[in-house]
Amino acid sequence: MKTGAEYIESLKKMKTKVYIRGELFEGADVVDHPFIRPHVNAAAMTFDLACDPQYEDLTTATSHMTGEKINRFTHIHQSTDDLLRKVKMLRLISQKTGSCYQRCVGLDAVNALYTTTFEMDAKLGTNYHERLKAFLKEWQENDYMVAGAMTDPKGDRSLRPSEQADPDLFVHVVEKNDKGIVVRGAKMHMTGMVNSNYMVLMPTTTLRAGDEDYAVSCAIPVDAEGIFHVFGRQTNDGRKEEGGMDAGNEKFAIVGGECLTVLNDVFVPWERVFMCGEVNYSGMLVERFACYHRQNYGGCKGGVSDIVIGAAAAMADVSGYGNVSHIKDKINEMIHLTETVYACSIACSAEGRPTPSGAYYVDPLLANVGKHNVTKLIYDIDRLAQDIGGGILATMPSEADLRNPEIGKYVEKYLAGVEGIPTEYRMRLGKLIENMTGGTALVESMHGAGSPQAQKVFYSKLSNVEHKKDCAMCIAGIPEEGQQLIKEIVKAKYSKKKK
Ligand code: SF4
Ligand code: FE
Repeated sequence: MKTGAEYIESLKKMKTKVYIRGELFEGADVVDHPFIRPHVNAAAMTFDLACDPQYEDLTTATSHMTGEKINRFTHIHQSTDDLLRKVKMLRLISQKTGSCYQRCVGLDAVNALYTTTFEMDAKLGTNYHERLKAFLKEWQENDYMVAGAMTDPKGDRSLRPSEQADPDLFVHVVEKNDKGIVVRGAKMHMTGMVNSNYMVLMPTTTLRAGDEDYAVSCAIPVDAEGIFHVFGRQTNDGRKEEGGMDAGNEKFAIVGGECLTVLNDVFVPWERVFMCGEVNYSGMLVERFACYHRQNYGGCKGGVSDIVIGAAAAMADVSGYGNVSHIKDKINEMIHLTETVYACSIACSAEGRPTPSGAYYVDPLLANVGKHNVTKLIYDIDRLAQDIGGGILATMPSEADLRNPEIGKYVEKYLAGVEGIPTEYRMRLGKLIENMTGGTALVESMHGAGSPQAQKVFYSKLSNVEHKKDCAMCIAGIPEEGQQLIKEIVKAKYSKKKK
């Protein structure tokens, strides 16, 4: 297993090309760029905690292929206990970073691929699963940081990939030869991509006959020939560039450090290709990835919310109102909301089931409910933190004002709270709340791992509403023949409407 420092060294040896505000940076310059370094530091925590005996119970696992001790971020879940430990590990790391540490996406991609390729090979006689296992072995041995790359640009959302005016709006295969394939297109909103060793491409949606070129999954080094990345702007990035307390969470950033990744005719050898044309298995892969990733959100956002709660409560303490009953009530409300999102992640893990490959899969309905809660409850948690923190969150002077030899003493004097506690500490807590509860952080809770509607589509599919109607009609005392009558009339009425 790598330490955080060894992971950072591995990035510095790469030739990853990243455009940041229109300027090209490469290799070590990417790693040390102030927009990116905090994200690197957060990802490094996933390595350091695995090397710390205090946390190894959660952060390491035993490889089911080699029997070696590995970082849990490279593990295929072998039990519900593994699924539960994953969620607990995420909450732990969020409590250490207060931010996204990006590495879950690759973990979810490999588990989704592991289960899907096994079933695909059994049905179609392909050999993707063995190829994936060979790559996974290398991944575990080298403790790679891997980005999961699913979301395509999508162009006109009403059209399928093969119907787009520009065929590159979904990643597709443009050439196949005896050595491998060539892919073209782009992936968007790529969490952790610029500070990963590899990316694993997956299709973005369920595909149909005619879309074969778009049914592609493969592993590619992030710095391979033909690839460049365009780093996204975030509401707090100017603060990161300045450095200091105004950044709120200076060391670890706030969200994932997302980018647009452009793939200009990138060659991928066959041994790194895990799907190529099998449209009928694209839906399974997309769904499994989505559910594994939605499993995470109560863990990672639960841990991030722990920091938000702590910051709000400490802000109240240093300001002199920590003991007021309505503040305590608001903190309790935040705890309730945080544990609600966490409970869904625990529940979908505890209700996990083995797949034919032997790897365990989460309960998909509960995983979607959990992520859906995150799209709402994090807003409530952050709203309460802003309520407790007060208007000063939005009007506070900068660190430079505090340090200014002329006016610093006035900032110190007029922003003071409880006597004896330095103003700087109160300012630090305020800046942390300001940064964690606004802008990019909230959008990430809404759309990361899929927008709310993407969760809702699972509900009608996975929750048996007909069964619920049967139960209700029984309790209401409607006899069997009455239930049948209702069903027949309603069915006839709906099918008439459709025509
Ligand atoms: Fe992991 Fe959460 Fe970041 Fe997604 S948002 S990569 S689940 S830490
Ligand atoms: Fe995410």
